[in-house]
Amino acid sequence: MTTATYELTACPVCGHAPGDTLADGDALRAEQERLWAFHDARLRPGVPVERLVDRVAFSQRLPLGLARCAQCTLVYRNPRERDIALREAYADEAVEADALRALHDTQRDAYGAQAERLEEVLGRRGRVLEVGSYVGGFLAAAARRGWRATGIDINAAALAVAREAVGDDVEVEEADLDGYAARGDTVAGAFDAVAVWNCFEQLPDPRGAAHRTAALLGAGGVLALRVPNGAFYAAIRERLDGPLGPVAERLLAHNNLLAFPYRHGFTPGSLRRLLEPLGFEVVRVYGDALVPIADEWTRPWAAWEERLLKGALRLLAGDEAEWAPWLEVYARRRA
Ligand SMILES: [Zn+2]
Repeated sequence: MTTATYELTACPVCGHAPGDTLADGDALRAEQERLWAFHDARLRPGVPVERLVDRVAFSQRLPLGLARCAQCTLVYRNPRERDIALREAYADEAVEADALRALHDTQRDAYGAQAERLEEVLGRRGRVLEVGSYVGGFLAAAARRGWRATGIDINAAALAVAREAVGDDVEVEEADLDGYAARGDTVAGAFDAVAVWNCFEQLPDPRGAAHRTAALLGAGGVLALRVPNGAFYAAIRERLDGPLGPVAERLLAHNNLLAFPYRHGFTPGSLRRLLEPLGFEVVRVYGDALVPIADEWTRPWAAWEERLLKGALRLLAGDEAEWAPWLEVYARRRA
């Protein structure tokens, strides 16, 4: 176990002085207690501990405090964990292979929509790199639609499951974004699309990461990010203790936003502020719910609750990204 060390920070996207406190330590601990009770009610007795992954056994510690940038509206941890503690938490994360295979199966079909949207924005299929490909759900969906897919991740157990599941047509490598981008000429400009569906919000330096993904793209290439919507989290958490508390709790918990297990909560404004100075044009911002998390350990009523709630959210949010718990942004690199 790594001991976290903390430091105070300005806004990691725009550099503005620390913003207003959105949630302090006491409020975040109360959210975490609600989260445990929420899942305790929805999982069948005897659920293996490893199946709590992506529900409550998060790689990220509970934030000490959350701030909201007064300039670009980013939601971020302040104080934040130092980089080294974060990387160790991910690389060391130990999960049973069975649990990872179950995640691959659950997520593979849901990712068809992302592969399709990427193709719409690019105007064709091509070579795609997924950063943080984890168990390979997107890689499998993209390969099925005719993309040449490469995935990188730092979790050895997840990489092994991904390799087994996607077959020989897909390259899967153990690397992080920094290490991969540092290969220079062999990867610079090599991709038509770079997708970061699951981990951009966990990277300590979003500006540096966006810069490195830009270098991997050819002219006209598309960067796709899916990130938690900081504006949605901020608006809904305010209602946790009011008359709509039970609804607010479900909206946040079914989308893995309760107790905010991320480094950054982006907003359409903070994403533009991040990407435009790097030569990207934001082409589309799409609102979405989280990929399904129910599995065979979920009580049937809870799986239905999740399906209905996410279906309703998709109808309500659609292209109105402000009201979606997760945001997908598609940005094109100018020639
Ligand atoms: Zn900012």
